[in-house]
Amino acid sequence: MKLIAGIDIGNSTTEVAIADIESKKFISSGITKTTGIKGTIDNVPGILIALNNAASNGGINMEDIKIIRINEATPVIGDVAMETITETIITESTMIGHNPTTPGGVGLGIGTTVYIDELQNLHAGDNVICIVPPNMDFEEAANRINSALDNNVNVNGAIVKKDDAVLICNRLKKKIPIVDEVELIDKVPLNMKAAVEVANPGETLKVLSNPYGIATVFGLTPEETKHVIPVARALIGNRSAVVIKTPQGEVKERVIPAGKIILFGKSKSEVEIGSGAEKIMERVDDVKPLTDVSGEPGTNVGGMLERVKQVMSKLTKQPLSDMHIQDILAVDTFIPQQVKGGIAGEFSLENAVGLAAMVRTNKLPMQQIAKRLEDETGIKVDIAGVEANMAILGALTTPGTSRPIAILDMGGGSTDAAYIDKKGEVRSIHHAGAGDMVTMLIKSELGLDSFEVAENIKKYPLAKVESLFNIRLEDGTVQFFENPLESSLFAKVAVITENGLEPISTKYSMEKIKVVRRDAKRKVFVSNAMRALKDISSTGDIRGIEFVVLVGGSALDFEIPDMISDALAKYGIVCGRGNIRAKEGPRNAVATGLVLSYLYGSGNNGQ
Ligand code: ADP
Ligand code: MG
Repeated sequence: MKLIAGIDIGNSTTEVAIADIESKKFISSGITKTTGIKGTIDNVPGILIALNNAASNGGINMEDIKIIRINEATPVIGDVAMETITETIITESTMIGHNPTTPGGVGLGIGTTVYIDELQNLHAGDNVICIVPPNMDFEEAANRINSALDNNVNVNGAIVKKDDAVLICNRLKKKIPIVDEVELIDKVPLNMKAAVEVANPGETLKVLSNPYGIATVFGLTPEETKHVIPVARALIGNRSAVVIKTPQGEVKERVIPAGKIILFGKSKSEVEIGSGAEKIMERVDDVKPLTDVSGEPGTNVGGMLERVKQVMSKLTKQPLSDMHIQDILAVDTFIPQQVKGGIAGEFSLENAVGLAAMVRTNKLPMQQIAKRLEDETGIKVDIAGVEANMAILGALTTPGTSRPIAILDMGGGSTDAAYIDKKGEVRSIHHAGAGDMVTMLIKSELGLDSFEVAENIKKYPLAKVESLFNIRLEDGTVQFFENPLESSLFAKVAVITENGLEPISTKYSMEKIKVVRRDAKRKVFVSNAMRALKDISSTGDIRGIEFVVLVGGSALDFEIPDMISDALAKYGIVCGRGNIRAKEGPRNAVATGLVLSYLYGSGNNGQ
């Protein structure tokens, strides 16, 4: 038996396809995580794992493999970074929203802030919000509030330092909203008008998260209402909040100078990160084709752009000055951050810009990988074919496809596109931004501390564990179980993986996580699909393209292909997930192409 193995070394994944040279039949495939940075000899251990994996999948003897083909990997690497561009600052101790785990009572209470000791001196009809100091126990606090209520003092709400809201509320004659766990309670200003709001269980604030709601409570002028927008915004999605109006107290949203990026192309253009993704991408379009990008030194972007170049320079052993950034993708995002000057550890959603960048150089040292692989396996190794051409050859094994066709290879670091016309001529392009950027956006927007959790949220649908015998899926349907679930799952939001439910530790609701997840995917992949197709169509108009096949790891996603298909349907383009060799799904296109180009010569897929 004489076999050939095609091997695709990607930034994230190494894939193998094995075929019999005489019968020209594919026998097996293999896959593993790429070891080391793509294009280095560190890739060899991963290649061996993938080869062995394919061999054992097909019951193949390694000695039967007579030739290995690795692709002339496109020398692109990508990186992602994040730059926060606004910060919320509270001057004077105006407290804004705060999400204790267990607020007490429900509803909206308005009144003047008074210390609990003062209650006995107040008059009937006074409207107050009472402040309970940390050294007073809940029983005592409840007694004092009850006797004030007996005197017809309107205690309309309370602010508590300890985690006592529910305990106090349960002992009161009248239910009032109580917010607890206010860390710096002695900073709450006295004798100021305040509003306390606690939402019904499962609901979020109605009044204080709405600028007109705050305006109504405090009788604000239109001018003053403009100033409370950051307060209202910070409270959206909270279950409870306190807003206090002090004469000088102000909540400001400040734009942080995040630095500029300098774009080189047809002309030179500078753009502030702070001006947002849309502006940045307009400028990228203006100076297209990009020849290089640099960032202001000392900023996150500056550091990130420099880092990508350094990695690539080391990798290719070419001078740093020869490394050029050929594409960037900017997207608007937000990051939950602690508010400066807040007194209860309040968080606000600050605006941020996420950036993916991609460096391209002349050539990767594939020769070294080939040599090392030959030494380790004793099998002849050829470097063959341009990645884009191989991907097209492989993609065309998807049933129902033929030339002319465009492919979108959606990987971890970059979105690669190629178009083959009737005559077999191929045009290709690489854009920054793919699966890793989606994961980064999910991670930062939900304030997660692990990449793995964000990756799981990206890959799997959500469920809420409503009882130990049922879960609610994200589409609203309910699934029941005969045997009880793990008790640690109870009331948690979880992802539904191949290995069962995996809980996510988060304060966000299932609905919120779903919105963040879908937005992140749309922002990266729909915009990149549009950019890519425009660039590879001969006319610069994507309407010239009829068929698009989606391949690569991110085409496995359970919703990205549909989002892209929806966006392209408007232009009359047929688009769907590839199914390489009618059985591999969107994976293995390049590896398959490498084998086909050997069996039939390039330009022919053997169909
Ligand atoms: P490369 O060609 O650069 O090695 P891949 O084609 O392997 O990249 O794609 C890697 C990307 O695919 C990663 O961002 C990963 O999160 C994503 N990915 C892999 N499996 C899935 C899946 N089941 N659903 C969504 N994304 C996935
Ligand atoms: Mg790939």
